[in-house]
Amino acid sequence: MKLYLKNQEMENDLLYLQNIINLYFEDSFLLIGEGANELAFTISKEEAVAVTGQMTIDGETYTATAERTGHDKKTVKQAVAETLVTMLTAHTGVTQSWGTLTGIRPTKLYHRLYRQGRSHEAISDRLAKDYLISQEKLDLMKEIVHTQNEAIPDLYNLKREVSVYIGIPFCPTKCAYCTFPAYSILVHKNDVPEFLVGLLHEIAETGKWLKENGIHVTTIYFGGGTPTSITPKDLKMLLDQCYASFDMSTVREVTVEAGRPDTIDAETLKVLNDFNIDRISINPQSFTDETLKAIGRHHSVEETVDKFNLAREYHMNNINMDLIIGLPNEDRDHVAHSLAETKKLRPESLTVHTLSFKRASEMTRNKEKYPVAPRTEIMHMMDMTRQFASDEGYKPYYLYRQKNILGNLENIGYSIDQEYSLYNILIMEEVQTILGIGCGASSKFIHPETGKIENYLNPKDPKSYNKSYAHYTTEKIKKLNHIYKAED
Ligand code: SF4
Repeated sequence: MKLYLKNQEMENDLLYLQNIINLYFEDSFLLIGEGANELAFTISKEEAVAVTGQMTIDGETYTATAERTGHDKKTVKQAVAETLVTMLTAHTGVTQSWGTLTGIRPTKLYHRLYRQGRSHEAISDRLAKDYLISQEKLDLMKEIVHTQNEAIPDLYNLKREVSVYIGIPFCPTKCAYCTFPAYSILVHKNDVPEFLVGLLHEIAETGKWLKENGIHVTTIYFGGGTPTSITPKDLKMLLDQCYASFDMSTVREVTVEAGRPDTIDAETLKVLNDFNIDRISINPQSFTDETLKAIGRHHSVEETVDKFNLAREYHMNNINMDLIIGLPNEDRDHVAHSLAETKKLRPESLTVHTLSFKRASEMTRNKEKYPVAPRTEIMHMMDMTRQFASDEGYKPYYLYRQKNILGNLENIGYSIDQEYSLYNILIMEEVQTILGIGCGASSKFIHPETGKIENYLNPKDPKSYNKSYAHYTTEKIKKLNHIYKAED
């Protein structure tokens, strides 16, 4: 659908408005001009701002008004968004539980207000008014922020520490919804030794800098790809290097993604156990074999269960499992089945994702091959997971939203027995620098004083990484020097 915005002067807001319209119509375009489907805003700014929106879609005309105190740019934008959401809701009958909130991490916003000394009640009132967020989501944010502050009591004081993310870009096969750097380990077997040379170099150099400058490491996370795709011998070499390079005495948690059950064996688990790895992930995504096949995971449900049990034998007592809601051809019965099977295993953490159609994924490129349930069903299935978590004693402790996520919902991390992933909290809430090492690893440098964020991305493919890791290491150390030493 094409919608024409008559206000030429709002050209700079086009993307913002487009993102809101996309919450209702996936394949819609907002253009400046005039046409059958039109949108226009009348904005009056005096002591307060008053916006009147008018929208004509498919021959039906809607109007909405919004008033806000103040007339700064942000306030005007929020008032415009409110009228737009009101008109789109009237047209589609769809209510957005996250209101007009796009492009901001919900709990980060909540934390910001909480740190300013506001009460939970005042924060809820403000977010409901500014962004039209539903009470259910406000309660969820409140619970998560409370739990995060309990899990990491010094959450607001970790800005002079860093966490380290180590990216290993190999997987047995590529899942259809995936856009992570995940190269087939079979095809890229010969790239691994050279890749490890680069990775060991990056770990050694950054570890040396952190030690010399007295910057503590809070958590370490091995992700990718699937780190357990490499051989146990290589994994051991990598962990040896980490333990030798970083001051492990301050590290609160080391996680290794072992997400794909088809990468786990006794030898690998022994290595993880020898290094006292705190937390691993074994991700079913679904407990239906046909679904796993359809999304290209190439492992069976039986293998997930077997590897989970094997991990328990190797004393892995903090295991996360990921489930995805909205996988192709899945309905409520599939979700009920996945939850029942999860209940039998009782992992310490459960991360429930809503399927997201990421731009570069196989699933998005060939959407017609992957039919998904309608929005109302997706919402019902998510409610089932919330209910399951509550019944089984899993507490929500982090959440994030993605673009093009089904039903404009969210991903929620749950945990029992306070076995939280500290790394996930730290990265979501952007309270400290995350140093990305390895292929496709994204660093997020957060200036300890100003809070200014700078992203820096390592090359995604192993071949480019192998050629340029030394340069990327040097650049990151320059950035560390800049943000941590400039203020000494
Ligand atoms: S296992 Fe994870 S990283 Fe690997 S292809 Fe699947 S979704 Fe991507």
